[in-house]
Amino acid sequence: MSLIQHLINGELVDDSGRSADVYNPSTGQVIHQVPLASRETIQRAIDSAKAAFPAWRNTPAAKRAQVMFRFKQLLEQNEARISQLISEEHGKTLEDAAGELKRGIENVEYACSAPEILKGEYSRNVGPNIDAWSDFQPLGVVAGITPFNFPAMVPLWMYPLAIVCGNCFILKPSERDPSSTLLIAQLLQEAGLPKGVLSVVHGDKGAVDALIQAPEVKALSFVGSTPIAEYIYSEATKRGKRVQALGGAKNHAVLMPDADLDNAVSALMGAAYGSCGERCMAISVAVCVGDQVADALIAKLVPQVKALKIGAGTSCGLDMGPLVTGQARDKVSGYIEDGVAAGAELVVDGRGLSVAGHEEGFFLGGSLFDRVTPEMRIYKEEIFGPVLCVVRVDSLEAAMQLINDHEYGNGTCIFTRDGEAARLFCDEIEVGMVGVNVPLPVPVAYHSFGGWKRSLFGDLHAYGPDGVRFYTRRKAITQRWPQRASHEASQFAFPSL
Ligand code: NAD
Repeated sequence: MSLIQHLINGELVDDSGRSADVYNPSTGQVIHQVPLASRETIQRAIDSAKAAFPAWRNTPAAKRAQVMFRFKQLLEQNEARISQLISEEHGKTLEDAAGELKRGIENVEYACSAPEILKGEYSRNVGPNIDAWSDFQPLGVVAGITPFNFPAMVPLWMYPLAIVCGNCFILKPSERDPSSTLLIAQLLQEAGLPKGVLSVVHGDKGAVDALIQAPEVKALSFVGSTPIAEYIYSEATKRGKRVQALGGAKNHAVLMPDADLDNAVSALMGAAYGSCGERCMAISVAVCVGDQVADALIAKLVPQVKALKIGAGTSCGLDMGPLVTGQARDKVSGYIEDGVAAGAELVVDGRGLSVAGHEEGFFLGGSLFDRVTPEMRIYKEEIFGPVLCVVRVDSLEAAMQLINDHEYGNGTCIFTRDGEAARLFCDEIEVGMVGVNVPLPVPVAYHSFGGWKRSLFGDLHAYGPDGVRFYTRRKAITQRWPQRASHEASQFAFPSL
């Protein structure tokens, strides 16, 4: 069993302090130890970032982008190796792991356009002999804290853009599956990134608190559960930091009576059970408009949920792997018990699944609940597992009210052939990312990603144009070069044209 290392100032660094277990969830065995950084280790990373910043911010944006072009190539060349590491520690299938990496690479491609996105704005002759421009300047040392469920993609939402904007970045990845995140950071180093511009420090609450409390850290990007997002937002903004903290979700899919049901069922299967439901954009509630739609949906879903191909993520041709830890599996089982006790109809029960040859793995089959109602815990809370809840309503308005009343507002979608219904839904729904016949409307890298309500604390969404604004400060410069021969008298009135 190996001890994973930190990456600080371009070097892999051992840590002999506290550590935590990293599991292979398919076998249930501990495969690595991950160090939990002390305050001193975090300070080393901060010091190296601070030292690297003056040269990096003055490196031309086009040169910074060239590092990202090489990084993209290395990521593509190492796709199989990275996917294997993701699958071994997270449990998701290899195809799913490759998919998250591809979506992460999109963000590297966006970062390659740094010279274009950082051009700023220029106005000549705003007054006599006066020109004005606004610049996007980097913040300095910034940090990111990421969740277990996308160990490749979510860090790539953050640091490629922060770095091409001229910042130095400290990443604190999830301690549950850190190996792929570390390998990807090493590839950026190999692509020619100067030492200290990116550090990866592993850890838990202690490491996060050290980043929050460090005055040198000017901004924090967080992605994870809502209680931690809220904690980080309030603690870090109190200290004057810029924060974007993306939290949990409960994503509803509305099925209208005119929807193409077969296509909607295929879409729902992937969106509810893909990655074992451990996605912040997973569909966990299907809202059926009318009993007829609900009955037809249940009839089509049941055989497909029962037939899900489940096994070790690293095997080929599977639909689903295990949950990330035994604790996560038990938590999801607890929700299923709770739903039954609350009176929901458990149509497919995924508990008690045993995968031959992997009896100690953290597996659960797909579960399906019908007749779920809004006061039940399985409706209100994020389950983060392979459980789909069907709620029955009698109109589109009732479906929208239900969604708008929910505390989360990350993603949602509507399945319909009716343009008017779809348009109303897009206009009025209080959710940050909306799909029309698209179950997982995760924006591409040149749009930004973010939820509403308690799914996001902060003003700016992640990556894309919002990401550029988040990782830069505007500076407005007004410049005058008077003509040599002229002399102008003092003006005591406020300057105007
Ligand atoms: P988590 O909140 O447990 O952990 C996220 C990060 O916070 C990790 O790096 C962890 O080490 C750190 N952390 C944990 N406890 C902490 C504490 N007490 N103080 C400070 N830091 C702490 O989340 P997770 O279980 O890794 O990920 C799943 C959650 O993330 C789900 O709620 C999911 O919806 C959410 N998520 C949201 C998005 C989004 O874009 N909105 C994307 C992915 C995941």
